Amino acid sequence: EGGRGPGAVRELDRATVERIAAGEVITRPARVVAELVENALDAGAERIDVEVDGDGTDRIRVADDGRGMAREDAVRAVEPHTTSKIRDASDLANADSLGFRGEALASVADAGALELTTTAEREDLGTRVRVADGDTSVADAGRARGTTVEVTDLFADRPARRESLASPAREFGRISELVADYALARPAVAFSLVHDGRETLRTPGTGTTDALVAVYDREAAGHATAFDHRADLGSGGGASGGEGGNGAGCGKESANDAAVELRAEGALVAPAVTRSTREHVHLAVNGRPVANERLRRAVASGYGTLLPSGREPVAVVRLSLPPGSVDANVHPAKERVALRDADAVAEAVETGVRDALTTADLRRSGEVAM
Ligand code: ADP
Ligand code: MG
Repeated sequence: EGGRGPGAVRELDRATVERIAAGEVITRPARVVAELVENALDAGAERIDVEVDGDGTDRIRVADDGRGMAREDAVRAVEPHTTSKIRDASDLANADSLGFRGEALASVADAGALELTTTAEREDLGTRVRVADGDTSVADAGRARGTTVEVTDLFADRPARRESLASPAREFGRISELVADYALARPAVAFSLVHDGRETLRTPGTGTTDALVAVYDREAAGHATAFDHRADLGSGGGASGGEGGNGAGCGKESANDAAVELRAEGALVAPAVTRSTREHVHLAVNGRPVANERLRRAVASGYGTLLPSGREPVAVVRLSLPPGSVDANVHPAKERVALRDADAVAEAVETGVRDALTTADLRRSGEVAM
């Protein structure tokens, strides 16, 4: 395979596999959705359509318009420990992809029946790979550029897994929250979610405000303030552009970008619109939705006394950090990340939120500038 290009899917060596071992990846239907959505994002998709039947064990289908796979890569990709994203452990520190373990497709195929249909750029003919009960079959398929993965009969032969699942409504609820989190983390990508044939979410891929309208409502989106805060953690934090009014990753690049280590941007819904529960602070680190209690508290502290007591904010806070300062390898599902300089990051987030809200308050504005 010596002559194959940088996008080729390869098997990882033993040492790398051991270093990034994750344990059981697929524990519930929402994990399947997360893995497939992350693969679609890594493939550069601009549009991701998710379909779910029942609690997800019946059928999950994720279709993207990303770069697709050549046949050879598609066949290899469903094998364990195969990836195009890293070559070995030395690539880990700088990996900017969401995936890198090369385990997801194989684990999904192990937990259910998997059908992958894909067409790469400049190919007239696509490929369909089916894996069921340990047998793999390959056929031609017609498809526009991109990839569709359909998973059926999830956990059919794992009664213990099936029994550990919550009600279908709760399992779908997790999937729904997860897709909303990705849609807010990646507002330039259009997402849709269909449950039992009924569309439950659609974001247009046109920025944070429109994603907020879709996930929440016009009222919440109408009270949102875009913010874009930069801080140099190396020199003790604080240097910042403050409220930028240019959300969704389209900020102006300054000439001395080299000094900027942290960027926090997104949208803060004004305290006129609050919730009684805590899960409405949508955090993302380097394009991946994460749960991080410390950062959540930093956002809430940034709102400070603006929040009525007992109320929680609605906010989207996306952090960009140098890949080396985030370790996504601590959690099998990568939902939790370890941050180097967690104190400084939390402080920068709190400051950024407070500055943006103060500025917005001074302008008595409830508008997002994008
Ligand atoms: P990982 O994402 O960790 O590399 P996966 O098992 O999820 O491992 O995927 C294996 C490989 O299959 C990926 O590295 C990628 O090359 C390819 N792949 C998977 N899903 C897609 C997709 N939706 N579009 C294009 N390529 C994909
Ligand atoms: Mg993956």
